Amino acid sequence: MKAVDVPAVDEDEDLLRAATDFGHIVDSRPRGVLTAHSVDALGDLLAFAGPRGLPVSARGGGQALYGQGQADGGYVVDMTALDEVRCLPEERTLVADAGALWRDVVRAALAEGLAPAVSPDHLGGSVGGVLSTGGFGGSSHRFGLVADWVRELEVVTGAGQRLVCSPERHAGLFHAVLAGLGQCALIVRATLRLVPAPALVRRYRLYHHTPGTFFTDQRRLARDARFSHVAGQARPAIDGTWDYVTEAVAPHTGQLPCDDPLFIGDLDHDPDTAEIEDLSYAEYLHRLDRDERLLRATGEWQRPHPWLTLLLPEEAATTFVPSVLADRRQEGLRHCGTVQLRPLNGSALHAPLLRRPPGELLCLLSLMRTAPPDRPDVVRELVAANRAVYEAALAVGGVVHPVGALPMTPDDWHAHFGPAWADLARAKDRYDPHHILTRGCGLWP
Ligand SMILES: Cc1cc2nc3c(=O)[nH]c(=O)nc-3n(C[C@H](O)[C@H](O)[C@H](O)COP(=O)(O)OP(=O)(O)OC[C@H]3O[C@@H](n4cnc5c(N)ncnc54)[C@H](O)[C@@H]3O)c2cc1C
Repeated sequence: MKAVDVPAVDEDEDLLRAATDFGHIVDSRPRGVLTAHSVDALGDLLAFAGPRGLPVSARGGGQALYGQGQADGGYVVDMTALDEVRCLPEERTLVADAGALWRDVVRAALAEGLAPAVSPDHLGGSVGGVLSTGGFGGSSHRFGLVADWVRELEVVTGAGQRLVCSPERHAGLFHAVLAGLGQCALIVRATLRLVPAPALVRRYRLYHHTPGTFFTDQRRLARDARFSHVAGQARPAIDGTWDYVTEAVAPHTGQLPCDDPLFIGDLDHDPDTAEIEDLSYAEYLHRLDRDERLLRATGEWQRPHPWLTLLLPEEAATTFVPSVLADRRQEGLRHCGTVQLRPLNGSALHAPLLRRPPGELLCLLSLMRTAPPDRPDVVRELVAANRAVYEAALAVGGVVHPVGALPMTPDDWHAHFGPAWADLARAKDRYDPHHILTRGCGLWP
């Protein structure tokens, strides 16, 4: 591939957008933004940038929280022009360009009575961005990662080479790209397997006043298949403690009355406060759209988001989560944030680069706080608090899910990937020999 001169063409507005992300914590200005109108243009950019050692990162939905998609002094590729989505109902697959958002994927699949087996809760992430981190959703306890449902990927490597990879073809590259944090190649297209979509679902919200009964139920639900989707939250209680909520969903036809006792009769929630409602599956998948509109209206969407997501061994979560929530440094979560708890079954998670604690049952803990605007001192404290929680999690066998606002050194990354590090490093040297891709993650010195 020929190297071309890439002009620094961009409008100030593009540069400013590419210099920040949803986290609003790290800002680094690129030299230029390339809008990816074609895959060839992306290949040319990489062939140009590599020998010059210029960083290149892809930007899709811009949901990164700590500069992971920024390219200080280099080029950000705005992927959002590559946004075509094609559903192939006879093959139960969908081919999506990497810049398409998950809401486009869901819309195209539902129009054919199909759906991704796992969709992220929030549909504003891009196909490429979510696959490069793995992707968790409400059905992950049964069906694993969003990335586990990819049949084939088209990518452009850090050396500017366009390749198609799958478990059968360039398998090493395929496994280095899924949940691979954009280190070896940029995804340009993905073929996803789909499953039949239910028309209706019944959603149960089940309240617990103590963590003990909540975690017992989560354990039970992670092990059995009665619900298609299971999630949970900790919510501030009036008396200064925390309540816990299980949100569980099962498909139904709408014709027969649902057998509620069969679904929730043996669970340990407070039966007087259970909320039960029926939704179309589309309403359920878009359930966070309303929250986003609200947060945009209040301005919270634009504020700094020092979030942290961890994967914990389930047996540690029962004491770890309440102790984190009782920590004075997490007080802000009571007023401006959300605490998510997702039960997971480790045996359902397949992408090799998704690091997870050993053991069957896991808990995904997300501390999703919003910091006040114009208070960099508070943001710094919250990022430091993230680091303290991360270190405490390591001590009980937890790992970070690397989508949050957490400062990590190359040594931390090496330890994070553990036995998978050697394969990742080999793939990096082979496919991104100049180490220009996605430097914002900070994996390499
Ligand atoms: C409001 C909100 C809700 C979220 N909900 C969920 C959820 O339910 N489940 C879940 O798993 N995660 C969730 N996340 C995390 C989010 O999915 C990840 O941060 C994801 O990487 C975002 O992708 P993006 O395209 O929006 O972000 P970007 O900021 O555009 O990209 C994120 C990272 O992916 C890289 N990247 C982007 N496109 C490509 C590409 N084509 N090829 C290679 N690398 C690429 C970027 O360089 C960057 O490092 C949520 C985040 C937010 C802010």
